[in-house]
Amino acid sequence: MPSHYAPHRVRIPILTYHRVHTFATELHKSQPDLTVEPDTFRAEMAAIARAGYQTITQRQLFDALYRAAALPPKPVIVSVDDGYVDDVTEILPVLRQYHMTATFYVITGRTHEQGFLNPDQIRQLAAAGMDIGAHTRTHASLPALPPAELRSEVDGSASDLRRLLGHPVYWFAYPYGAFNDAVVREVRRAGFLLAVTTRAGETASTDAPLEIPRIHVGRAATASTVLGLLGGGAAPRAPAGAG
Ligand SMILES: [Zn+2]
Repeated sequence: MPSHYAPHRVRIPILTYHRVHTFATELHKSQPDLTVEPDTFRAEMAAIARAGYQTITQRQLFDALYRAAALPPKPVIVSVDDGYVDDVTEILPVLRQYHMTATFYVITGRTHEQGFLNPDQIRQLAAAGMDIGAHTRTHASLPALPPAELRSEVDGSASDLRRLLGHPVYWFAYPYGAFNDAVVREVRRAGFLLAVTTRAGETASTDAPLEIPRIHVGRAATASTVLGLLGGGAAPRAPAGAG
């Protein structure tokens, strides 16, 4: 990306979800704070839509950053990490109901495990107009990896998704939000254009397109607290180990 221009910044709140599922019946017990109940998720999306927020795609964010393309007056991105089957059973129907899109960051090495999206379901999300992003192959914490394993997790997940979807994927999320300079270089080398972290914030910048902050939505959130987060309030920190 050209570096001789002044950085361009775009205010874009990106909400982060993981599981949307009835916690009591959860097959793979995740950290409780990472599971939002289906009724709560529906209420949060309804409130966002009613308040006039419009979800945008990763491509729209990229074009706003690099081509000064216009965004809706109240843009928001809904992002969902880890590729649980909830994405098609619980989340997609709600998004469709409210004419919203989301970005789903999937772990490409888990697409044959129970409880996770299979390849057909990932293609179903893409066909429904959703963005698919990479979240590595095994959800390893990337800064700790030797170079060959780092390459397999980052570039490997890009090629897994390219094969699965039939087109390149430009969007990436760091497991546990963990990255360092070597990791960011590898993500750039693999062709990713935008990457999200678990750092709290709501501004994307051409200074650091591979270090975009997000807003964690935890289990205790309600429709009104989510609206408050979008209104520019201080974003809460993600719990340790989230992402
Ligand atoms: Zn994750």
